Amino acid sequence: MLKLRFVRPRLTPSILVLRYCSYSSSSSAAAVQAERTINEGPRNNWTREEIKSIYDSPILDLIFYGAKVHRHAHNFREVQQCTLLSIKTGGCSEDCAYCPQSSRYDTGLKAQKLMNKEAVLQKAKKAKEAGSTRFCMGAAWRDTVGRKTNFNQILEYVKEIRDMGMEVCCTLGMLEKQQALELKKAGLTAYNHNLDTSREYYPSIITTRSYDERLQTLQFVREAGINVCSGGIIGLGEAEEDRVGLLHTLATLPTHPESVPINALVAVKGTPLEDQKPVEIWEMIRMIATARMVMPNAMVRLSAGRVRFSIPEQALCFLAGANSIFTGEKLLTTPNNNFDADQLMFKMLGLIPKAPSFPHDEADDCHEVASSSG
Ligand code: SF4
Repeated sequence: MLKLRFVRPRLTPSILVLRYCSYSSSSSAAAVQAERTINEGPRNNWTREEIKSIYDSPILDLIFYGAKVHRHAHNFREVQQCTLLSIKTGGCSEDCAYCPQSSRYDTGLKAQKLMNKEAVLQKAKKAKEAGSTRFCMGAAWRDTVGRKTNFNQILEYVKEIRDMGMEVCCTLGMLEKQQALELKKAGLTAYNHNLDTSREYYPSIITTRSYDERLQTLQFVREAGINVCSGGIIGLGEAEEDRVGLLHTLATLPTHPESVPINALVAVKGTPLEDQKPVEIWEMIRMIATARMVMPNAMVRLSAGRVRFSIPEQALCFLAGANSIFTGEKLLTTPNNNFDADQLMFKMLGLIPKAPSFPHDEADDCHEVASSSG
């Protein structure tokens, strides 16, 4: 007998699809798995069915139990502010169907050279003054092979920004083992390389590099001792099953990523996905809460697409388990939330910025640098 019935929009907001749940109100999969996560801690042996059952739980249960796991694993008031800067924009050889920086699509974006050190450091300083604790530099490249000069320049940027007392992250495409080691030596905190979607749907979005190549880069990053930042994008035309598949891949990595960005597609004119419908807030919440439950210690980042969500909508995302955002005028090339509006939101919701965290032996050096530069 069906004990509970609820209604929620599927991928197309105008079409309401009745979903029947066989859980009682007190024992949804979200409730059962949240208790297990709290009692047993993070685990890597999730089955796809388990994750799907969490994802399919009634939305209010997802929010409630996402919040419960979040409060168990984190200070729920702390939200990490990261600033993402495109240091080398456009002209990318890859064919990622969502990306305005691919040279294969006519999006009106002009390819630029690598930004010089002075300009990058100035942006990092500004971001720090605005409260950002992590500075992420993105370059529109397939990989860094054959880019020795540019790569060495970026190593310099990493060192300098790290010395400013900020966490530093890069997203430069695929890495080789040696490059990961060099970035670690320069002081890189984290490397971002998103899986984007499920293994099954991936070939519909990118054909110029494989899912396994992406996983290989994540492995090199992990082995070099750099934190892994990896998540995906929803709204690419994928099925809900693909969203579950993405989370399953991430949650069954030998070590969970330290950061999991959840992006909502920002459809850009000229890309193959220009006509995709905007993602609904409930879809974001479902992804965030599920990610929170299956990777309890990760920073779950409410990323691209946030600009479309109101403060109450973002509040639901924070309640469900998001604890990181991108701040700054732009997210690589697409618009982001206004800085003042974000400060107002923090005040309104009682959120506080998360302090940067460094390995213990580095913390004192960093403090000294920060003090002496002030
Ligand atoms: S997402 Fe990255 S790799 Fe793909 S086209 Fe854009 S810049 Fe290139």
